[in-house]
Amino acid sequence: MADFDFDLLTIGAGSGGVAAARRAASYGARVGIVESVRVGGTCVLRGCVPKKLLVYGTHVAEDLADAAGFGWTIDGARLDWAKLIAAKDRELDRLNGIYIKMLTDSRVRILEGFAKLIGPNQVRIGDKTHTAKHILIATGGRPELPPIPGIEHAITSNEALDLKALPKRMVIAGGGYIAVEFAGIFNAAGVAVTELIRAPMILRGFDDDVRAHLAAEMTKKGIVIRAGVKAARIDKTDTAYRLTTESGEAIETDLVMYATGRTPNTANMGLAETGVQLNKRGAVAVDEWQQTTVPGIYAIGDCTDRLNLTPVAIAEGRAMAETLFNRNPMRMDHADVPSAVFSQPPVGSVGMTEAAARMQSEIDIYRAVFRPMKHTLSGRDERTLMKLVVERSSGRVLGCHMVGADAPEIIQGVAIAIKAGLTKRAFDQTIAIHPTAAEEFVLMREPVPAPAAKAAE
Ligand code: NDP
Repeated sequence: MADFDFDLLTIGAGSGGVAAARRAASYGARVGIVESVRVGGTCVLRGCVPKKLLVYGTHVAEDLADAAGFGWTIDGARLDWAKLIAAKDRELDRLNGIYIKMLTDSRVRILEGFAKLIGPNQVRIGDKTHTAKHILIATGGRPELPPIPGIEHAITSNEALDLKALPKRMVIAGGGYIAVEFAGIFNAAGVAVTELIRAPMILRGFDDDVRAHLAAEMTKKGIVIRAGVKAARIDKTDTAYRLTTESGEAIETDLVMYATGRTPNTANMGLAETGVQLNKRGAVAVDEWQQTTVPGIYAIGDCTDRLNLTPVAIAEGRAMAETLFNRNPMRMDHADVPSAVFSQPPVGSVGMTEAAARMQSEIDIYRAVFRPMKHTLSGRDERTLMKLVVERSSGRVLGCHMVGADAPEIIQGVAIAIKAGLTKRAFDQTIAIHPTAAEEFVLMREPVPAPAAKAAE
């Protein structure tokens, strides 16, 4: 190993790269990490963390409105958006500092610049060449914009997180995690939000009840969701923007945001030239050990475009470090990964959707839709959805889905039960915590009628 400058050189100091680098260094490996922007990556600087801070910050509007039902009078409350953005930025600076300290405390050397592979064990940064026995590509992804005329007028989530002032009206294109989350943030901040989705429904891939329930709740809060609508062009007018749809309709708006997917950061890095195979979306192809087509070069996280979630990238990075530096071979297990959408109200989900489970076995569905206790006094017309997908033959709970306050917090706990393969009987045997919304998951007694039986009624 001594022939190389590093035992492991990680390219990209996001959540996955940092986790892998620190785990490798903890086993005595000589580790370097290269970053071309700022240590922290998408999650900490341009994604999960700032997004969630803005969700907290804007959801206060509802809490204030709900307070009236509990006897409070709150006069003159208003959001100072610039203050919220400044507070968020201070927190990101703090986290950036913590990440740098964690790396240096772990004896990981930080190298600033853009890394380019010039051989299986060689990386060029600026005018310096570094050698490494193992190289890890952990470069993440970035927003992808469709090539329609005027797309340069649109912002992405990167700019949305740093908006200097709020527009009056806003159009958000896309129906995925990011579009739905930002629609919630800006709507709660008082912006008139129209979300354009090309599909019939938001959140492709999620359980159909979750999709419909969330869309209905978002609509109740004032977000206009227009299904089956795609923008053809964007023009700047004297005072605003005009978005023209494919059917020729013109929509005037003050801001256009695109959240129509992300693309792996793999360009101009010398990957293909070194023999690292990329798929047609530009993602690095890896096997279950995170190994690329070149021995000694590994890849994790969003640049591999598998399950693009921070905790997954972290787990992939640690698995790789365990395998290489601790003689502890670890494959990554991508089954039953829970996830959340920080929409307002939020979504939590783990395991199979009803549609996917129906394709593989006979199932029973348990579903509860109810008004949370808080809203009996607040008067807010918001309903919670909770749903279990259960395999009939084994009783095993295959999937668990929720839309409502605290859904991500609740589903994290239930995800342990799903991962452990627990049955509906185990859920039934669990005593409820009362009064909570979460207790509904252990109180659902009767399955809903199967679709065929329902149709026959
Ligand atoms: P997604 O892939 O989740 O959604 C993309 C959306 O854009 C879909 O609604 C898709 O429609 C639509 N779309 C794609 N191309 C076009 C186009 N040319 N014109 C109009 N609409 C289009 O992407 P996101 O950008 O929302 O998020 C990227 C990834 O980041 C997520 O998949 C997730 O892995 C991760 N993420 C996770 C979060 C979390 O865990 N809370 C938060 C944010 C991001 P259709 O449905 O028809 O395909």
